[in-house]
Amino acid sequence: MNESKSTPRKLRIVIIGAGMAGILAAIRLREAGKHEVAVYEKSGRIGGTWRENTYPGLNCDVPAHAYTYSFAPNPDWSSFLAPGPEIQSYFENVVRRHDISPLIRFSQEVKSCVWRDGRWRIETVHGMKDEADVVIAATGVLHHISIPQIDGLESFAGAKFHTARWDHSVPLDGKRVGIIGNGSTGVQIVSALAGRASHVTHIQRTPQWIMPMPNDPYTDEQRTAFRKDPALIDQIRYGEWYTSMVRRFTEAITDHQSEQMYEIEAIVRNNLEQSVKDPVLREKLRPDYRAACKRLIYSPDYYQAVQRPDVGVVVGRIARIEPEGVRMQDGTLHALDVLALATGFKAHLYMRPMTVQGRDGADLDVFWARHATSYLGISMPGFPNFFMLNGPTGPVGNFSLIDIAERQWGYIDQLIATLESGRCREISVNAALMKDFDQRRIAAAKKTVFATGCKSWYLDADGVPSSWPWSYDAFAEQTAAPRFEEFDLVG
Ligand code: NAP
Repeated sequence: MNESKSTPRKLRIVIIGAGMAGILAAIRLREAGKHEVAVYEKSGRIGGTWRENTYPGLNCDVPAHAYTYSFAPNPDWSSFLAPGPEIQSYFENVVRRHDISPLIRFSQEVKSCVWRDGRWRIETVHGMKDEADVVIAATGVLHHISIPQIDGLESFAGAKFHTARWDHSVPLDGKRVGIIGNGSTGVQIVSALAGRASHVTHIQRTPQWIMPMPNDPYTDEQRTAFRKDPALIDQIRYGEWYTSMVRRFTEAITDHQSEQMYEIEAIVRNNLEQSVKDPVLREKLRPDYRAACKRLIYSPDYYQAVQRPDVGVVVGRIARIEPEGVRMQDGTLHALDVLALATGFKAHLYMRPMTVQGRDGADLDVFWARHATSYLGISMPGFPNFFMLNGPTGPVGNFSLIDIAERQWGYIDQLIATLESGRCREISVNAALMKDFDQRRIAAAKKTVFATGCKSWYLDADGVPSSWPWSYDAFAEQTAAPRFEEFDLVG
């Protein structure tokens, strides 16, 4: 670091992805008005996960007023948990209001970012080239769909698709619809299709714990009140009920012997006991692992849906898929017209298959060969001025990812200010610090509820949970301001 260099610099900043996090970064940078900004988006529309997921019943199980940018409260949410299309419209409105569309290069998927001569060289799959002083990777976590390896999948005679590629031209009313998978996605779809399809078959390999969650619509009077008095929105977002729920939840997951964890387990167990009347169905639906080991599912109506005569729950292993439907290992065939694969995402890819080459030959594929990691989900050693929003090791789970991205943005903004000030030209977390962080993170992760013996997308190839293993307050505290002694400041 050269202390004598103090000429402020205007930077060129490239943001990759125009989903929730990329929009946030673009708005903040545009407001500050100090730098040149370009956003590269692989699709023709903004929205990220809310653009890609359009399945029936899609909503966000984080309370709508908490799943909202702090600077753009929305008095118009229709219900406590917002439906997916409303969230997509919200992001489109925010983009319009902040006029960031002109910054976005649509249908330009970034293929590579290479650090050469003190700048990032960026190239898209369509051959567009750019250069930047700073890259912000806001590429999301759950966007590479996972298609299961099941014998005969291609032979199915009806319509089939992954839930993040929902084919709305396929009729569902009066059809026999099968859903494979019972993560948050599969559960929401089953609730939505019950009573619409002639029969819904929910095929699950592993039962899930379900947390009851009210989802009342907001009345016109409530929406008017929110509009007149934004403090009412703040009471939901920052009030005791939601913040203490988040705090109790993180205490529970980080200490699975805690009182908070036992409280969660009692609620989900009670939900199963009280809601499901038929003892045979109840036992079918009972998981044999700790609550919140897999991402906890919040649902106001799943148990009601599966008790309908036109909904069947099938728990077991699939033998193969045949033209008529799904054949289970016990020999039963479930005949179907439509098959939806609610089989999740390859969560550990992050921005890959993009090539990212940093300083002195640093290569992302090599750095992440064992497991994807980063400091605070933001910075990686050897990749100067390359910052992530919701990168690996950040808190993912049952919280508002918007809140997490805003905290990370506040931190990145301070790193950018350091580059802008001329104090240095390159900044990335120190390699030794990163190693130490990762060792401590892995040791703590092994003690979380995520590591108590279930399989989930939280686990890396070594079976270690990859998300933030400490409390939410610890994340808030550590992302409040960079400790520059933890970074290599060069130039
Ligand atoms: P997921 O939680 O990863 O669930 C995938 C499901 O597919 C699991 O039930 C899995 O069974 C099953 N599966 C995978 N391969 C299979 C195979 N070969 N045979 C049979 N079953 C198979 O995926 P998701 O439900 O799409 O959810 C992913 C994440 O998206 C969630 O955890 C959440 O973070 C986010 N999400 C959030 C919301 C929200 O409201 N905020 C809504 C939807 C999704 P096993 O359990 O046996 O592996």
